[in-house]
Amino acid sequence: MNGSFEATIGLEIHVQLNTKTKLFCSCLRETNNLPNINICPICVGLPGVLPKPNKRAIILAVKSSLLLNMKISRESFFERKNYFYPDLPKNYQISQYRIPLAENGHLELRNGKKIGIQRLHLEEDAGKMIHSEGGSYVDFSRSGIPLCEIVTKPDISSPDEAYEFLARLHRVLTWCDITEGNMEEGHIRCDVNVSVRPKGSEKLGTKVEIKNVNSFRFIKEALEYEIARQIEKIRNGESIRQETRGYDPTTKKTFIMREKEFAHDYRYFPEPDLLPIIIDDYLIEEVRREIPELPDSKKKRFEEEYKLSEYSSEILTSQRILSELFEDLGNKFDDKKLVANFILEEILRSVNEGLCDLKRDYIKIRESAEEILLSQTKGELTRNLAKEAFREVIEGKADIHSAINKRKIKTESSEIEQAVEKVLQNNPKEVQRYKGGEKKLLGFFIGEVVKIIKADPKLIREIIQRKLG
Ligand SMILES: [Zn+2]
Repeated sequence: MNGSFEATIGLEIHVQLNTKTKLFCSCLRETNNLPNINICPICVGLPGVLPKPNKRAIILAVKSSLLLNMKISRESFFERKNYFYPDLPKNYQISQYRIPLAENGHLELRNGKKIGIQRLHLEEDAGKMIHSEGGSYVDFSRSGIPLCEIVTKPDISSPDEAYEFLARLHRVLTWCDITEGNMEEGHIRCDVNVSVRPKGSEKLGTKVEIKNVNSFRFIKEALEYEIARQIEKIRNGESIRQETRGYDPTTKKTFIMREKEFAHDYRYFPEPDLLPIIIDDYLIEEVRREIPELPDSKKKRFEEEYKLSEYSSEILTSQRILSELFEDLGNKFDDKKLVANFILEEILRSVNEGLCDLKRDYIKIRESAEEILLSQTKGELTRNLAKEAFREVIEGKADIHSAINKRKIKTESSEIEQAVEKVLQNNPKEVQRYKGGEKKLLGFFIGEVVKIIKADPKLIREIIQRKLG
């Protein structure tokens, strides 16, 4: 359908940096449900205050730049971006403009395609307007929170590529603790621009911007709709208007928010209250040392060293904490696949069902899994019993030892023999039929024995066969 057209997509991403405090004051970065918590004269822009830069925010921005293969500016500076809005009490935002912290990088997609990154700069967040029935309110808790703005080059050519780019960016930034990356909390916000043009045409089509889409999946859907809409318009001989659109996930359609007004003149000028940002080799090396083994390399290592499938390795490296759990547990067992499967099936299921949280309950998860897998490798628990025991512990219904002990398979054959004896005595007719050749009754006997005693079915089978000749 889209055969004769091609799309050009650019992304502008705001990433909230995982610092303890705000960008220019010592207020805590955390926001909670109460408005106007953690604010001070600096972040609400009272006259006469002096901003003081947060070194950690600069370090995290440098780390992002290294991860995105960017050229770091050895000297950059903050500028004032002037505009009026009620959630911006200073009437300007401190940002970077002429010289950003870093330029010219890329992030590689799975198929090796490199998506160029034009620039990365630091800026402060604005407050938040809350519109409700009684009127409009301003919450300044978010004012001054450090953001890193990342702008791609127009290298993305499909909604799938946009989605993959965002997912990979999210993974590497959360992996290195640059952002908490919680989408619902708005830790990563993304604006998209998209145009289409006939294939092979040199001239780019008219750009439409899509704003305020709050999940990667919705961004992909919005792009799919928008590309089809633009192609249809062009086919019908209509022109594309330069405008800003929103996306409604229920109708899966984009809608017009506003026509593009004249380009803003933000009257940028250097922030006179802040010194330039100087980044030297020493700082870059210090930051480089903080970067852990990255997901792609870990994934490859899991496949080669532990012989895990590509699929398992991919999921185990989707979050750093998951890969660490695997390595922590894997160190204790020879059978790495057993550990990988237990994490992928049991632990992730419990996490997805909201029964536990990898970060909050890390120690409990690791210790229970270790005890359970240990019992399983000793033959005391079958795979199913191991699952049951883990679930019971995670649901908080039993401690790990009682969960295991009450399921432990009896391995002493005397007890099993007694149970078998009892079953055979209680079912004389079936015993006759079995002896007469109805061998499929073996399953019936095993079932009856299991009702009396939890034991390894293989062992039960052997004992029954022996007793019945
Ligand atoms: Zn403050």
